[in-house]
Amino acid sequence: MADAENETKAGFVTLAGAPNAGKSTLMNQLVGAKVSIVSPKVQTTRARVIGIALHGPVQIAFVDTPGIFQPKRRLEKAMVDAAWGGVAEGDMTVLLIDAQRGITENVERILTNLAAQQKKIWVVLNKIDLVKKDNLLALASALGEMDHVEEIFMVSALTGDGVAHLLDRLAAKMQPGPWLYPEDQITEMPNRILTAEITREKLFLRLHQELPYALTVETEAWEERKDGSVKISQVIYVTRDGHKAIVLGKGGATIREIGRQAREELSEILERPVHLFTFVKVREKWLDDPARYREMGLDFPKG
Ligand code: GDP
Ligand code: MG
Repeated sequence: MADAENETKAGFVTLAGAPNAGKSTLMNQLVGAKVSIVSPKVQTTRARVIGIALHGPVQIAFVDTPGIFQPKRRLEKAMVDAAWGGVAEGDMTVLLIDAQRGITENVERILTNLAAQQKKIWVVLNKIDLVKKDNLLALASALGEMDHVEEIFMVSALTGDGVAHLLDRLAAKMQPGPWLYPEDQITEMPNRILTAEITREKLFLRLHQELPYALTVETEAWEERKDGSVKISQVIYVTRDGHKAIVLGKGGATIREIGRQAREELSEILERPVHLFTFVKVREKWLDDPARYREMGLDFPKG
């Protein structure tokens, strides 16, 4: 029966914002599963990640994006381009703002840019678990003054507070139409990339200073075994011998621990035993190699 209540609806909702606003955390909450990696460091998300949520007859494909900032290096430029590409392609844009940090210069620039593109946006003030109510209301009222801000929500992506309400309202905004993905699909990411991302997350959590930004992870081989397990071989590219030494750690202790954490999570996600082999390779110029960008799902910026 095709009555109004059962009519399928669908659409793409892009989650955009400054680095570290909590976009990936929110997407995982909305989808109800971890599809995008999260760390306390900026620039954890490097390319667009699609996470799919069902809400009754409504399917929403969320597009998680890298943080928007003023890029300097080539990889940063590719990431910011991917974020704006996500905004251009979505049916709706949700701008996440870290409520604790408020409207920084960077956020202001993003808001201005969205207005210049004639984008109507919904704003989500995130991290309300960290902020006093008065500050939150002041922030909401400043945003409410802006013509292109249609709705303002307050959530904690970490605790889930306010997320169900946001999902309700987004679902109500979707247009009638067939679903975009099969019912049981939660992401568009191939397993090869998903598994590389999990390892990269562990590296981001464990390593510091410039090192996380100077490495990338690729899955090179994927072997289904007769006993139901899977053997995954990955390469971690770094730019210097010194970085390789840090990733390996004393007697290989660091890479062993990172590999253990990644393997445990992968076994859960893939629901079978995982044998994970990681190799660290020095490739001084990987940040200038178009193939590495392609592998990450990024366009290679010239110049
Ligand atoms: P992204 O760069 O916008 O994708 O941000 P992430 O989702 O990677 O989150 C960045 C950091 O903020 C992580 O350490 C998260 O745990 C943290 N975070 C995200 N949302 C919240 C929240 O609602 N409350 C708090 N306290 N921390 C949050
Ligand atoms: Mg992210």
